[in-house]
Amino acid sequence: MSQRIWLSSPHLGEEETAFVEEAFRTNWIAPLGPHVDAFERELAEHVDVGHAAALSSGTAAIHLGLLLLGVQPGDTVFCSSLTFVASCNPILYCNALPVFIDSEPGSWNMSPQALERAFESARRKNCMPRCVVLVNLYGQSADMDALLPICERYNVPVLEDAAESLGARYKGRASGSFGHLAVYSFNGNKIITTSGGGMLVSSDAALIARARKLSTQAREAALHYEHVGVGFNYRMSNVLAGIGRGQLRVLDERVRQRRRVFERYQEALADIPTVRWMPEPTGYLSTRWLSCFALEGEGAAAQCNVLMRLMERHSIEVRPVWKPMHLQPLFRNAPYFPHADGVDVSRQLFATGLCLPSGSNLSEVQQDRVIAHLRRALSSSVDTRALA
Ligand SMILES: *Cc1c(COP(=O)(O)O)cnc(C)c1O
Repeated sequence: MSQRIWLSSPHLGEEETAFVEEAFRTNWIAPLGPHVDAFERELAEHVDVGHAAALSSGTAAIHLGLLLLGVQPGDTVFCSSLTFVASCNPILYCNALPVFIDSEPGSWNMSPQALERAFESARRKNCMPRCVVLVNLYGQSADMDALLPICERYNVPVLEDAAESLGARYKGRASGSFGHLAVYSFNGNKIITTSGGGMLVSSDAALIARARKLSTQAREAALHYEHVGVGFNYRMSNVLAGIGRGQLRVLDERVRQRRRVFERYQEALADIPTVRWMPEPTGYLSTRWLSCFALEGEGAAAQCNVLMRLMERHSIEVRPVWKPMHLQPLFRNAPYFPHADGVDVSRQLFATGLCLPSGSNLSEVQQDRVIAHLRRALSSSVDTRALA
């Protein structure tokens, strides 16, 4: 049996070990320390946003982001439906109520039409959301020029979930530089990793200063331990920040490598008309964190299931597109605004969409193995009964 091919596995560069050894040598093992400060500075510079706070996870960063935007118990928060649950679990930590917004077919990210209708409905009910969690999916920005003016018109701030899109660009600007606050993740499967970690960024220095305070138990500036508000233990450790500094140095290379994996898949399957790759609209630069496609035509959903099983038989990890949050039992009571009347884009993408192995460390031999099995599965599954 050949070695298993993973969806997205960690890929270290040359310099991480040296940074981690430095942390050991200087006994900076605690949270806080010179690597944390440097990682924040270097990441902020890389995405051209003024300030950054290094945290224990992307989820922690979203939680603090919501608190910093003033989310209170009973508030509503708009959130993209097609995402990983970490985008909206923190809404529940705040005892707030999520309202889910569908995707649009052009970018698979938040639908401006659905967002507009959600705002109109909120205004009619006199129940405006405290903020909008705007997700950039699978390494690609949402359509900021369409979405941000809507939020501005209603005077509602944006928390940009760029956990999956570090390194992506939208009309020349870095993904994660559009929201009042934005979040990156360095979990093990993301484009760069600290094994676990996250970053909250903003052009607002005061917000990031408050994030640092909240993430270290909200200590007041006093020698004794004085506390006025509730705090959290959400700071990144100096050891992990050392890994992050090394990883940041290879980020651009990782983007090129992931895009190359995608291009090889796209070229190799160009003759199969039912495969519709996640679009990359003009002016966008996706990192192709994951190479994703949706199958078209009759029986596409059944075909996806067969395909996943066939790939698994050959020890190749293929996953469905995220199950949308409005279809999750956890959020069964949450309101939902589809792209258009009777057009549920995220539901359709979940039913017919798949994510292929996309790691920047996939060898061409491994990619060819994926391609060969995919081709076979896609051509044979014309008759799915034979394979069921
Ligand atoms: C990974 C991810 C997160 C959370 O990041 P962690 O660092 O794993 O907590 C949030 N949102 C999205 C869309 C993600 O993919």
